[in-house]
Amino acid sequence: MKGVEKAREEVVNFAHIVSREGLCFSTWGNLSCRPEKDRTVITPSGIPYEDLQPADMIVLNLDGVVEEGRWKPSTELPLHLEIYKAREDVKAIIHTHSKYATAFAVARREIAPATEEMAQLFGGSVPAAEYAFPGSQELAVHASRALGKSGFAVLLANHGTVCVGASLAEALLRARVIERSAEILLWSTLLGDPFLLSNGETSKLRDLFLKHYGQEE
Ligand SMILES: [Zn+2]
Repeated sequence: MKGVEKAREEVVNFAHIVSREGLCFSTWGNLSCRPEKDRTVITPSGIPYEDLQPADMIVLNLDGVVEEGRWKPSTELPLHLEIYKAREDVKAIIHTHSKYATAFAVARREIAPATEEMAQLFGGSVPAAEYAFPGSQELAVHASRALGKSGFAVLLANHGTVCVGASLAEALLRARVIERSAEILLWSTLLGDPFLLSNGETSKLRDLFLKHYGQEE
């Protein structure tokens, strides 16, 4: 269970970061990771981020059966389980209520690639999933469907975002870039019609990111 113990600490550390950065607030939003194929560690329901400790995390299997934990898991547990079941590559999920991205979720409009970091990281738009009630299985199915087999994030209509990754660090970077891109798009709309990046330019930026970003080996 060493992986699970480390996962408890990681989820708490990242929960504190998303709260500090305003991506989530009060008790809204939630995080999880999957340290083992059939095991997930998720934040509890209704406890403020700043109070969270590793011992507060809930450990469950992918059928939702609690193995460890004294609290109720996040009410969005079905969302996390549905995505993990559909996507073996996903090892971490961060569900935020960040402001600017939620503005797009309220308008039920995708966030198009308008900045180079958005194009590099996502290689396209972040879609808006169909509306469903928070915490419902229907919401979980809509989100998982909109995410598809290779998506990195979706907007939940009138609600927030869901970002996935091979690690919590990857999911967090996506949550940050989505929020930043949503803010920039909104401001640029005030200045006139924003110029979005074409599909061709977006693909080139994505390739650049995948092949050449970072330090040379
Ligand atoms: Zn939520």
